[in-house]
Amino acid sequence: MTTSSKSILIQGAEVLAMARPHGERPVQADVLLQGGKIAAIGNNLPIPESCEVIAAHGKLLMPGLVNAHTHSSETFFKGRYEQMPLEAWLLYAYTYISGAPIPDRLLYLRTLLLAMQSLKNGVTTLCDDFFDPMAHSTKRLGIVFQAYRDAGIRVNVSSAVLNTPVLDSTPFGREVFPEHLRNQLNFGAPTTAADYTAYCQEAFRRFHGQADGRLRFAITPSAPQRCTTDMLQACHALAVQHGVPLHTHLLETRVQAVAGQMFYGKTLLAHMHDIGVLDRHTTLAHAIWITDDDIAQMGRAGCSVVHNPLSNLKLGSGLAPIRKLLDAGVAIGLGTDGLSSNDSARVFDLIRFAALMHNTGGTPPAQWLSAIETLRMATLDGARTAMLDDVTGSLEVGKAADLVMLDLDNDNFRPKNDIVKQLAYCENGSSIELVVVAGHVVCRNGQLATVREKEVWDELNQLLPAYLEEHGRWEVANRVFEPYFSEVIRRCKATDIGIQR
Ligand SMILES: [Zn+2]
Repeated sequence: MTTSSKSILIQGAEVLAMARPHGERPVQADVLLQGGKIAAIGNNLPIPESCEVIAAHGKLLMPGLVNAHTHSSETFFKGRYEQMPLEAWLLYAYTYISGAPIPDRLLYLRTLLLAMQSLKNGVTTLCDDFFDPMAHSTKRLGIVFQAYRDAGIRVNVSSAVLNTPVLDSTPFGREVFPEHLRNQLNFGAPTTAADYTAYCQEAFRRFHGQADGRLRFAITPSAPQRCTTDMLQACHALAVQHGVPLHTHLLETRVQAVAGQMFYGKTLLAHMHDIGVLDRHTTLAHAIWITDDDIAQMGRAGCSVVHNPLSNLKLGSGLAPIRKLLDAGVAIGLGTDGLSSNDSARVFDLIRFAALMHNTGGTPPAQWLSAIETLRMATLDGARTAMLDDVTGSLEVGKAADLVMLDLDNDNFRPKNDIVKQLAYCENGSSIELVVVAGHVVCRNGQLATVREKEVWDELNQLLPAYLEEHGRWEVANRVFEPYFSEVIRRCKATDIGIQR
């Protein structure tokens, strides 16, 4: 793709800008895109020279969606697992016992595939917590960035790190696992804070801000209990220095809540606060097993949360206290999580599930999430969790031209009652006609403009069967750990932690 983009004038669309405080109801307007940005929004805008004009009466224009938490490493494992809680599922999706890392070409295609399936579904920004078993090679990271550069999507790419042995971050781990399995339960020699810092600084130099700022690097210690204190503090220093998120998994399961009490004598959120890594740079994925005190602390710290409704349901992780977090002033984004715990890159599914799944357990209806609240999570507030809210997430003059155009003359909007509610409760991506990132049309009527989809699949059809067959053999090898993780879960269920999710 070239870095310059031609002008596009979109005429007469219903514009749902998602800007605050106004902009949360659709208003008919023209929108001019120039130089990759939104240059004007108004009525009867003049047509500049050499400008593509798109007649958009009967269409809805909205900001491109933000997938605020995913892992491209799981993209080939869609529809592969079920009936497993997180601690068991991890064994198969992330195989402790395994062979060589995925070959470079498949690494490229795997990343490209996530971008392709995201763009086709109106997702213009991805936060990819890339996991590559502790290789931390800028060559491999460069392959990931190249795929996103080629696809034309906006990304925060980070490169996960964990440096605490699995047995020391798993409650009862040293009691439960037999001697002969203990050494096999790690991803290799632990990374030091100094080594990870040097790697990240190199990644910032090489990749951050490339493609006119569309490609960014972010920092992801995998989870507080999986990293040493000096690693978490080094990660925080990097995030502050470069103005990017420190993005981490927090309290996704009951087992992790027990880990906090067992290893630190406090909640993992309190641990993060006490070591000085909780502030507006901090983005917490999941945040399910948090206490009321944690929620108040999160509000004071100004951190943000990524809610992963479908992944949480699939892994039986529990219901995140989203209304309480909103009441505490915490910005919430939506994430698919990896495609082996969510099975789709569609953020429209997340909007719908987030708007429905909290209507349970006797919660008063006035506290259920509304359509507009979940749409905010998928747009401007999702961008906030990525520290990109001054760049994308709403249609405002001066912001990046990241947008989606939907056909309102479509079953999802027939009959037309309330566009906002129908977007949340009826839309599944099938109304999408046009997807634009940084002023470039990346998808039109379901056809990607940046990638030859057939060629990608011709190649994947050649390469994938052998790779998946090999992965299947590693899944079988890792089955040996499952009874012991089941025992860990059983013991954690019997441990009183004072909350239930
Ligand atoms: Zn995750």
